[in-house]
Amino acid sequence: MPAQSRSLNPDLPPSPTTAPRGRQTRPRVIAAGLQALGLAMQRHARAIRAIQWAVVVFYFGLVITPAFLPLPPEGSSILDNLTLFAQFLFWGIWWPFVMVSMLLVGRLWCGVFCPEGTLTEWISWRGLNLPIPRWIKWGGWPFVAFVCTTVFGQLVSVYEYPKAALLVLGGSSVAAVAVGLLYGKGKRVWCRHLCPASGVFSLLSRIAPVHFRVDRAAWDTAPAPGTPVNCAPLVDIRRMTSASDCHACGRCAGHRDAVVLSPRRPDAEILASKPEQIATGEALTLLFGVLGIATAAFHWTVSPLFVQLKTAAANWLIDRDSFLLLQDNAPWWLLTHYPEVGDVFTWLDGLCILAYILGGGTAIALSLQGAIALAARLAGSPRLPWRRLALGLVPLAGANVFLGLSMLTLSQLKGERVILPWVPDARIAILSAGVGFSLWLGLRLICQATPVWQRRLPALAVYTLAPALIGLIWYVVFWVW
Ligand code: SF4
Repeated sequence: MPAQSRSLNPDLPPSPTTAPRGRQTRPRVIAAGLQALGLAMQRHARAIRAIQWAVVVFYFGLVITPAFLPLPPEGSSILDNLTLFAQFLFWGIWWPFVMVSMLLVGRLWCGVFCPEGTLTEWISWRGLNLPIPRWIKWGGWPFVAFVCTTVFGQLVSVYEYPKAALLVLGGSSVAAVAVGLLYGKGKRVWCRHLCPASGVFSLLSRIAPVHFRVDRAAWDTAPAPGTPVNCAPLVDIRRMTSASDCHACGRCAGHRDAVVLSPRRPDAEILASKPEQIATGEALTLLFGVLGIATAAFHWTVSPLFVQLKTAAANWLIDRDSFLLLQDNAPWWLLTHYPEVGDVFTWLDGLCILAYILGGGTAIALSLQGAIALAARLAGSPRLPWRRLALGLVPLAGANVFLGLSMLTLSQLKGERVILPWVPDARIAILSAGVGFSLWLGLRLICQATPVWQRRLPALAVYTLAPALIGLIWYVVFWVW
């Protein structure tokens, strides 16, 4: 190992003299490889820019073109119809695996591939460079934007129809460009404060096994470099201790001999977190957004409860000779409206979807929050407020979004007559991994908070109810409904 690499990477373990040789070298090789990769990203910024612009062209080509084509005729396939191909690529592959990438490599997607990030940063170099107003910095935007996008996407059937996809994805891109045009210079104000996905990405990247690690002491003692780093998502690099805001773009790798792409334990960041580092908005995004509203949005289409709700509401209206809400004259940009393929939502459909997703999602979230808040109270430590204990559910949130999004992948494959017999086993494995990891984090957080077992055991027992609830919901969705 070259001397400079050792000084750059504080994660490199010292040379043990007693451990078996294979166990000594493997972590060192991984750490050195990551360090080299981070430095390569820093050196090859032009190549990364080329990748970003290629993604922009590819992305907008596949979002815009299908919206101007006729809907796929009966019997079309992913392999012979551009619209179906684009749908499969976006919703079947891209979106679930962007979530997986957050769990594996942090927000690398944001820093290297995301077309909206590329556009908003590029335009902000040429924009008005206005100071960022206070309302944009409100911490609740990622939650609000996530919920609005999730619910609206279900109302217009964003996964099925290209015009709806253009409206939702294109609308988000236009907003990203507008924000870039107005605020910041070479910055990603949109990504940092407003992007609907940033709240989820921030949460999932907290358990990524790689991150850009900052050695604060090395930073402070290094001579001031000639060129400052332009961190587009506005991270205070010197004080960075979390992967949640870092887009893993690599620009700061090696800066002041203090920033290194490094491996870490997936539980390290959450266990080392301090209460003041976790905003209430982040915990609400986790409980109400990702585990509440998103879970309800994933399963309303297969829910017999939804059918019962809609039937009861329709009968109630018919009994009163009230047919206004049973009309299907809403425009496609408000509610699904494609009479040419027999897919039309009535106003009542829209209201029932809203009621089911918002009501059901809120009920799930309140149950989770109740269990987490009670568990934190039973632990009885100011070091473990409910919002910190809630972070124990991040692995389950990762499993949750992947299981939900992959339902669409599987239904698309089913339409192509591709049946994967191993799916039930894979679902059990993913759910078990999410529940198991969340239980582990809960146990460690509670044990950190109090040494008293009379407190630990009841706190852990109550905390367990939260992963158990999500596990139960998916059991019912996959194996009962
Ligand atoms: S801290 Fe900023 S510059 Fe450094 S890798 Fe993360 S996003 Fe890039």
